Amino acid sequence: MTVSQHPVSPTDPRTVSELAEAVQGGLPRTIADLSSLVRIPSVSWDAYDPSHVAASAHAVAELVRSTGLFDEVRVSSAPIGDSGTTGQPAVLARRAAREGKPTVLLYAHHDVQPQGDDADWDTPPFEPTLKGDRLYGRGASDDKAGVMTHVAALRAVHEVLGDDLGVGVALFIEGEEEFGSRSFADFLRQHHDDLEADVIVVADSDNWSTTVPAITVGLRGNVTFRLTVRTLAHASHSGMLGGAVPDAMMAMVRLLGTFHDEVGSVAVAGLESRDAEHPEQTEETLREESGLLDGVAPIGTGPLLSRVWSQPSITVTGIDAPSVANASNTLLPEVSVRVSARIAPGQTADSAYEALEAHVLGRAPFGAHVEITDVDKGDPFLVDTTGWAIADATVAMTEGWGEAPLQTGIGGSIPFIADLVRTFPAAQILVTGVEDPDTRAHSPNESQHLGVLHRAVLSEAILLARLDARG
Ligand SMILES: [Zn+2]
Repeated sequence: MTVSQHPVSPTDPRTVSELAEAVQGGLPRTIADLSSLVRIPSVSWDAYDPSHVAASAHAVAELVRSTGLFDEVRVSSAPIGDSGTTGQPAVLARRAAREGKPTVLLYAHHDVQPQGDDADWDTPPFEPTLKGDRLYGRGASDDKAGVMTHVAALRAVHEVLGDDLGVGVALFIEGEEEFGSRSFADFLRQHHDDLEADVIVVADSDNWSTTVPAITVGLRGNVTFRLTVRTLAHASHSGMLGGAVPDAMMAMVRLLGTFHDEVGSVAVAGLESRDAEHPEQTEETLREESGLLDGVAPIGTGPLLSRVWSQPSITVTGIDAPSVANASNTLLPEVSVRVSARIAPGQTADSAYEALEAHVLGRAPFGAHVEITDVDKGDPFLVDTTGWAIADATVAMTEGWGEAPLQTGIGGSIPFIADLVRTFPAAQILVTGVEDPDTRAHSPNESQHLGVLHRAVLSEAILLARLDARG
């Protein structure tokens, strides 16, 4: 991957050591604030009580006020297109730049994924629990630690640089990232002037390890849809007709089987891969990080990281069919699944969807009726790595971690980044984060490594100081 072409000098060592002291001194408060955010079960999905997301927005607004850098901090929602519904509340604040200084937009989200089954957690999901170096709880990392990175970095910068901070700061803490950022585009339109910036820091990604930081420069996109297969007008006794007519499950299983080849690579014509260099990852690391069982082989071909950063993938993430407990001897007339595809950087989500649609509609087993509904698409993203902001961030992270950051890809998607790029085409985007390979975001036993949080806060404080020294 391309290395920044901007020569950069180190940050004034006195500033670094003063910031390091302020960040270290503020750490107990940072962790206490993070813990109180984790106690609020701010799941943004439709089926969950929205009052928790509102409470979490107000708690975040209070923390943003506590930085002492903003005259006004607002909790605000935008309508979702012309659907007649409104998105979950975000937190918004802006401090104008002094003449000639850049403005930075700091993004994170305060909503969380559902906790799933409480029984799968070793500690209660919304009771922040410290074990060793890690704080456990839903949202402890994704992305309430991202929220706290911004808050704690701003507090430290305010403490060290004082009231006459010249860098402009806009803050946008979203309330529905985990539910598809449905009102994001409308929010950007409505608050365009509040959010406009030269540099955008998206603190919602991960690091190479707990000791080596990363800047995410490539993100896969996604295409998801509901796929329904119908073969019969009604259910029938499997003993009477089984063997003579296809049931919907049989047709569905055969259709899903066409998504991959013998080694598990995606076998859908028109889904593209991207040529790029990848850091080395061993199969042992992959096995450890994924919990791959003994004797089970990895899938796909090519360097391991190319499979998750630069190649497409297809996963079935849900199925509507009778449960095993309720299974009767019946030929199912209809089965639906949720298909979730990841798209390599370089291809648009639209063209990937066309390839998937042509694939499933052209392969209906036994002439089964195949229908696609509830389509959701997010474009992949590649960061321009030649700007001055990434050069500044690289120095700041090297000083904050004592270790230079790797430029990495990520297998997941952050679809709203495409909205950000469309709305602010001139802004330089920095995708940073507080996660590490053991974070388990979205899963039971999610946790935040507190050393990583400490280093992420210090790096961001140094970055803010460097931006302040510009212009
Ligand atoms: Zn997140």
